[in-house]
Amino acid sequence: LNYHTAEFTISAPTLAHCPSDSGAEVAFAGRSNAGKSSSINTLTGSSRLARTSKTPGRTQLINFFGLNSGSMQRLVDLPGYGFAKVPEKVKLEWQRHLSEYLVKRQSLRGIVLVMDIRHPLTEFDQMMLQWADEVQKPVHILLTKSDKLKRGAAKTTLLEVRKALKEWEDLVSVQMFSALKKDGVDELKTKLDSWLEF
Ligand code: GDP
Repeated sequence: LNYHTAEFTISAPTLAHCPSDSGAEVAFAGRSNAGKSSSINTLTGSSRLARTSKTPGRTQLINFFGLNSGSMQRLVDLPGYGFAKVPEKVKLEWQRHLSEYLVKRQSLRGIVLVMDIRHPLTEFDQMMLQWADEVQKPVHILLTKSDKLKRGAAKTTLLEVRKALKEWEDLVSVQMFSALKKDGVDELKTKLDSWLEF
């Protein structure tokens, strides 16, 4: 698939506002600042498709991007999570919308879970993995910002994360990624192709 054809379609505040649940889509999730927007931008070759701005209000929306100027194959940017200043009530709302999306969305083929390689498997990540397991959706983990670590340290983290998730190895895969160096893009595309093809 040509991910450079991705075009913004719609922002949905809740499941009810999402585009028709047909075709196939892949959702990107990650704790705020993990590098989710940068990874989407790198994949799609666009410097500003997924906003890297940190406006908490905007991050609550589920953003859809259609591929190949149609809506049958989509990338989905899920709400960021983890702004310290957001009240507990708003956090609970996010959780409700996220879990509802994951449980009910038939066209969801898999989740790309973006983690900063220096801080993998946060509480948010564990929650996402738990939900994905409950609905038996595959998860592909991007250990991004790999350029921030030396090769040896990055490799060690990759192996440690794989080991920590061994019990879920049927549903979970892990790779290194760097938006800065454009490392790992082909590996990511291969995974997305396998999920999005009909
Ligand atoms: P998001 O909140 O998860 O969407 O995170 P962003 O994509 O906005 O990235 C958060 C910060 O990390 C920004 O300052 C980015 O420039 C930086 N960043 C993202 N990806 C990389 C990467 O691969 N390498 C480095 N060195 N910095 C990155």
